[in-house]
Amino acid sequence: MKIGKIVKVSGPLVVAKDMDEANIYDVVKVGEKGLIGEIIEMRGDRASIQVYEETSGLGPGDPVVTTGEPLSVELGPGLMESMFDGIQRPLEAIRAIAGNFLTKGVNVPSLDRSRKWNFVPNAKIGDEVSAGFAIGTVVETTVITQTIMIPNGISGTISSIKEGEFTVDEVIAEVETSDGIVQITLMQKWPVRRGRPYVRKLNPIEPLVTGQRVIDTFFPVTKGGTACVPGPFGSGKTVVQHQLAKWSDAEIIVYIGCGERGNEMTDVLNEFPELKDPKTGESLMKRTVLIANTSNMPVAAREASVYTGITIAEYYRDMGYSVAVMADSTSRWAEALREMSGRLEEMPGDEGYPAYLGSRVADFYERSGKVVCLGDGEREGALTVIGAVSPPGGDLSEPVTQATLRIVKVFWGLDAQLAYRRHFPAINWLESYSLYLDKIGKWTDDNVADDWVELRMKAMTILQEEAKLDEIVRLVGVDALSEKDRLKLEVAKSIREDYLQQNAFHEVDTYTSLDKQYRMLKLVLAFQTEAEKALAAGVYFKKILQMQVRDKIARAKYIPETEMSKIDDIIVDLAKEVEKLITEGGVISA
Ligand code: ADP
Ligand code: MG
Repeated sequence: MKIGKIVKVSGPLVVAKDMDEANIYDVVKVGEKGLIGEIIEMRGDRASIQVYEETSGLGPGDPVVTTGEPLSVELGPGLMESMFDGIQRPLEAIRAIAGNFLTKGVNVPSLDRSRKWNFVPNAKIGDEVSAGFAIGTVVETTVITQTIMIPNGISGTISSIKEGEFTVDEVIAEVETSDGIVQITLMQKWPVRRGRPYVRKLNPIEPLVTGQRVIDTFFPVTKGGTACVPGPFGSGKTVVQHQLAKWSDAEIIVYIGCGERGNEMTDVLNEFPELKDPKTGESLMKRTVLIANTSNMPVAAREASVYTGITIAEYYRDMGYSVAVMADSTSRWAEALREMSGRLEEMPGDEGYPAYLGSRVADFYERSGKVVCLGDGEREGALTVIGAVSPPGGDLSEPVTQATLRIVKVFWGLDAQLAYRRHFPAINWLESYSLYLDKIGKWTDDNVADDWVELRMKAMTILQEEAKLDEIVRLVGVDALSEKDRLKLEVAKSIREDYLQQNAFHEVDTYTSLDKQYRMLKLVLAFQTEAEKALAAGVYFKKILQMQVRDKIARAKYIPETEMSKIDDIIVDLAKEVEKLITEGGVISA
């Protein structure tokens, strides 16, 4: 094999000559240590290579060898509960991200080669199979069972199939194809830059329930949908992503920490094993894969990290799981693209980002979707993609935010002002949107309540009216408002404080089921109806504001899921207290 030679090293970019045997997107081994890199541009025999490890110590004349293969991930049992770096090397210890990066050029397989898995076949000799056909299962964790599928590109007849304990690279079955016998292992490989195939996309109509009230009620994302969460530093992007990873009702979570601080990934690693999945009662790590390419790791591997993550997610989608991918932050990936583009001396686009920024971002989000999976048995899988965006100074007109907003269907706009006032999650209810609201209407009618949509619209209308009334108050003072309008402001405040504000760090408040959200929203809006009734009966406004039940309304969020009927009791208390105000004293004394 021909060996290339380095002619130039510029940070993570290495240029090598004598590379005419290589192709664009080949993985290459760079230098004596064989650092992993990927060819991102070919000109004649010259290859520009982005190197996924520290390039210090490399110099002109050092060897470069192509593997002839694209950057790929290993897919098979052992992914769950793992933490990988951007190019899917296992990061066992927290120290690996907080402190030293893996020793350069070390060749650790992604999936453990010694661990054995119990393979239970469900296909038999003579079965006709092709890509995606389920030939058996492996229990991966207490909550996740992998379907072992025929890899893409293979079709034929099963000529042998085994049962029992196997490592990921032992042969478990053989398929007789027109080109001869192909051996099947528990593990398959897939090139990360290519989306895994499926039969067709379906319209996503079921919400991903996140347990976060402002999201589920006002700005829901679907299973198979896309959302972005842009916001300035400290506005709560990471907390939103963590909350979704913890509480959303996806069956599998792939969390990509891209270019952000390592301690945030350590937090995940420390917390998740302790936290119990509300559905299964098992540790959340049992259904989670972490990809960490934190700020102290090589910049070039940021891009690899998002592709690695989404490819792993597609693999589980193909088994029929509902998967959610969180990427925090896609801006760091875009910055890495910009840096490489600059070093390649490409024609810069907006703010120095490459002209292909928009298409890269789109390609990433377009790997989402609810799909009919390849293979037998009508499996349907879903892949939801949620990306954090970090616009410098919170300016949403910058290129990465704009490119993202063009493609995603849900926008959770984090607001520095709200975060400053400690209104969390700081999702601005007037600017954010979800284009899925109409699509999931039927689902919420059937699964929450048939007046859910009406309640939600009523609450949103009050919040919009509050913004207008606030304007008037600013100009002429609160006394200029009618009591009915002042009441509206009170109700809006209650919606904001008692309903939308949700403390991620409170044991109960951190997660609210849709059922509880419905009861809470009904309660908050019942205050409006009852208070209007009292006003109409001549009760003093001040008396209404002083009602004792308001304290209970404010504390309803802390009522555990198991005692939800207590929320309905508050509605009864509310009606009683108003009744009392109307019949006694409230009218006469001020
Ligand atoms: P970003 O990722 O946008 O820089 P973070 O997600 O790290 O911001 O949030 C910054 C801080 O805001 C958190 O450390 C926390 O104190 C607070 N915060 C954000 N969201 C919430 C929430 N839902 N509940 C309570 N505190 C929150
Ligand atoms: Mg953050």
